[in-house]
Amino acid sequence: MAKPILEIDGLQAGYGDVQVLWDIGLSVNEGEIACVVGSNGAGKTTLLRTISGLIEPKAGSIVFDGEEIAGARPDEVLTRGIAHVPEGRRLFKGLTVEDNLLLGAYLRRDKSAVRDDMDFVLDLFPILKERRLQDATTMSGGEQQMCAIGRGIMSRPRLLVIDELSLGLAPRLVERLSEALIEINGTGLTILLVEQDVMTAFDVASRAFVIETGRVSMSGETSVLGEDPRVREAYMGI
Ligand code: ATP
Repeated sequence: MAKPILEIDGLQAGYGDVQVLWDIGLSVNEGEIACVVGSNGAGKTTLLRTISGLIEPKAGSIVFDGEEIAGARPDEVLTRGIAHVPEGRRLFKGLTVEDNLLLGAYLRRDKSAVRDDMDFVLDLFPILKERRLQDATTMSGGEQQMCAIGRGIMSRPRLLVIDELSLGLAPRLVERLSEALIEINGTGLTILLVEQDVMTAFDVASRAFVIETGRVSMSGETSVLGEDPRVREAYMGI
């Protein structure tokens, strides 16, 4: 039986008087890769930022692992086990790859487990091992995305949320990153992926939520939604 680790209900959020999310309801099951897709400006980033505590919701609930987290501060959300890989990677300039990765673990005290997670990340993305001492922001877009995902893993989360995995990256790299997500998920980590590229998202995720102008318009198994003519026409150009 699928057990939800994240359950969102009646979520309303926005910026000042501008409401962006209207009555959002969705759930992510423990152990799965789920995705949120939708066109530019649909509200995907706003949704992730609200989950992570960067935006305070106007109404609704966000239950993570049985506890209400709507309105919790970003550091509390991280401590409870949700790591956010932001759009545009947001690595720290002037810091090495290793230091950027370690920033993901700044709230942790279990030093030897942190070292294990560092080894896992460097094995997952060997290029980061080679670039360990390089300023992270001087790497290519794909390498920076690997580092941003690695930083998320370094907090040893129970849910990894990723905003736009594929943005601005060549298909070969997107494929590599998709494989990495499947490998990470194989360790038992639940993933919520937000993507504009529906093909990429449906390749890795088992369930999807389609957001249109701040509302969930469709949801279901990606294998079923991927065959839906409305999805194919609106988001896959088929
Ligand atoms: P994209 O893929 O282009 O990032 P998205 O689906 O992630 O799109 P959001 O970034 O969540 O969409 O934006 C949803 C709406 O909220 C848009 O109309 C956008 O203009 C608006 N918006 C985003 N950030 C702000 C902000 N800081 N202040 C006011 N409005 C904002």
